[in-house]
Amino acid sequence: MIEMSWRQVILHLTHPFTLSRGTSTEKTNILITLRWEDFEGIGEAAPHSFFGETPETIEQQLERSIPLLGADPFRLEEILSRLREEGGVSGSALAAIDIALHDLVAGSLGVPLYRFLGLSADVERYTSFTIALDTIEKMVARLKEAGTFPVFKIKLGGERDLEAIRALRAETDVPFRVDPNGAWTVVEAIEGGEELKDCGIEHLEQPIPPEDPAELGKVGAGQPLPVYADESCRVTGDIPKLAPHVDGINVKLMKCGGIREAMRMIAVARAYGLKVMLGCMIETSVGITAAAHLMSLVDCLDLDGNLLIDNDPYVGVTHQDGKLRLPAGPGIGVTRRKPSASTSTA
Ligand code: MG
Repeated sequence: MIEMSWRQVILHLTHPFTLSRGTSTEKTNILITLRWEDFEGIGEAAPHSFFGETPETIEQQLERSIPLLGADPFRLEEILSRLREEGGVSGSALAAIDIALHDLVAGSLGVPLYRFLGLSADVERYTSFTIALDTIEKMVARLKEAGTFPVFKIKLGGERDLEAIRALRAETDVPFRVDPNGAWTVVEAIEGGEELKDCGIEHLEQPIPPEDPAELGKVGAGQPLPVYADESCRVTGDIPKLAPHVDGINVKLMKCGGIREAMRMIAVARAYGLKVMLGCMIETSVGITAAAHLMSLVDCLDLDGNLLIDNDPYVGVTHQDGKLRLPAGPGIGVTRRKPSASTSTA
């Protein structure tokens, strides 16, 4: 039988992280381990309050999953369907199990996950780095200390959004992606897109609340910047109704339930001619590295969740000036970080 255990990890954010919905200084995620024969797989759940998740609701779902895991981890589709349909497991709890199963089966074969999936690591892909919402002065300070990245994601939804973008633009020429996390109205998004069109913005991500896909279409039609859906697009079934109204979607393992569902989303998005971004929550290198194995399939990456914490217990995908490099080891390829390596003593 496949056995499962888990533990909570409290992640310390290097800086208070503010979105249009609120501020946090730490984040509780759950790391799970699956065991089968002599093999282990590791996975991570990053619960998100926007989707009604807490560490406790994740643990309840994991508890319900134990008798549904079965005896053969290679039957990935069967196990994950059973968890969804019989266990009501979804979102980041399902992602944790999906990641751990993939780590386990690819690891037991001795191949990196991307090879198990038929993908390549030999591609040039860069992650954006996120500048959270704050006072304009602090956002500028974060940009200055962030180091070299080929693109920044700017969280908006405050009182002085356009001023913030102009202040940041005065510091650098690299492109920005703008993400108000649904804080704007349709009118504000149209006016904002028009105002920002000459500010080197690649796209607007989820400018307005997610309830009505057609409203995103009004934003897209009313101003020149491409529009990506994030909160509006959780799983594959969300894509057909969004497709006529957006230019791209942000796929996250924690939203959709893991690697298999993410690959389905990417395939369906492509069939509709949409661009695809691979994004993340605040996650350790376990979740971020698992997602990075899919990097060859997408147009752009926002996989910086592990760069926003100072006590990541694992080492996995690395980056140089934003360029990602997958680990060479089997499975997702993460290893325990040595205690003294980079933990903050502050
Ligand atoms: Mg977003």
